[in-house]
Amino acid sequence: MANLLEGKKIAEDIKQGIKARVRGIKDRYARSPILASIQVGENAASAVYLKAQKKTAEELDIEYRLETLEGSITEARALEIISKLNADPNINGIIIQMPLPAHLDAKALCSRVLPGKDVEGMHPANLGRILSKDAGIIPCTAAAVIELIKSTKVDLYGKEAVIVGHSEIVGKPAALLLLNEFATTTVCHIATSDKGRLAEHVKRAEVLVAAVGKAAVIKGDWIKDGAIVIDVGINRVDGKIVGDVEFEQASRRASFITPVPGGVGPLTVTMLMRNVVNAFMQQEPIK
Ligand code: NAD
Repeated sequence: MANLLEGKKIAEDIKQGIKARVRGIKDRYARSPILASIQVGENAASAVYLKAQKKTAEELDIEYRLETLEGSITEARALEIISKLNADPNINGIIIQMPLPAHLDAKALCSRVLPGKDVEGMHPANLGRILSKDAGIIPCTAAAVIELIKSTKVDLYGKEAVIVGHSEIVGKPAALLLLNEFATTTVCHIATSDKGRLAEHVKRAEVLVAAVGKAAVIKGDWIKDGAIVIDVGINRVDGKIVGDVEFEQASRRASFITPVPGGVGPLTVTMLMRNVVNAFMQQEPIK
């Protein structure tokens, strides 16, 4: 049976490192890093994330400032508020809670955040920096994927890594990060499935990352013996949350596997806070 890669446990170690860095910042600069969170209107899904972010920020001594904007706010006004936060030297990171009301263009709002304050790592400048391996701010979910893989201590050099899903938020950055670790990296997507070739790629994966959003799209008997399986998918089936991989069958073959829920999710918010600390250090002159 596979070892479980539990995000909460792995996050604990990383949190200790972040706490130490925040203590260092407070000693040197006499203040904590500040994360501004923008929420537009009411949304049940983002309320859950907000709660988790606030709790983790408090735990790590990062100040969390919530800006709640009216659901009917115009795009021009929302952009103005982001620009104000960009210009405020006390704000180190800005996160815009999704989903936004339909009349607002999420891409336009996210691109307004200065790259140096974009702690979600989704600004084109931050995505681009992953190419050159000097990224200080990495998209949180992709960063969580890599931390989970690294926690296994398996050497990635020359390993066959297969990522299923090529979104900008998860699949593509995770692929680049694995390439940066010298894994031989393949990215599969809807067209791979449509051509009936998903199984053949998954079957040779020594490291598999599933980021699709479709329950059981990856069959348990496709998993290579001894593989590391990171399941990013979140799907609701019969009132239960499940991933993209058939968990029971896969865990009989894999050496490590993430549970869903409890794998990638709990680590992403810790990655967000690490980005806030990295952003602080990029903004402040060394004292
Ligand atoms: P997305 O919809 O933007 O991308 C889905 C990807 O899957 C695309 O590349 C698409 O081509 C591919 N795909 C779709 N059907 C496929 C199929 N049958 N076979 C192979 N590939 C297929 O999704 P996303 O934003 O990248 O999110 C993916 C999943 O990860 C979702 O379930 C989402 O909820 C979850 N997610 C989890 C976290 C977390 O913190 N745990 C964070 C972000 C996203």
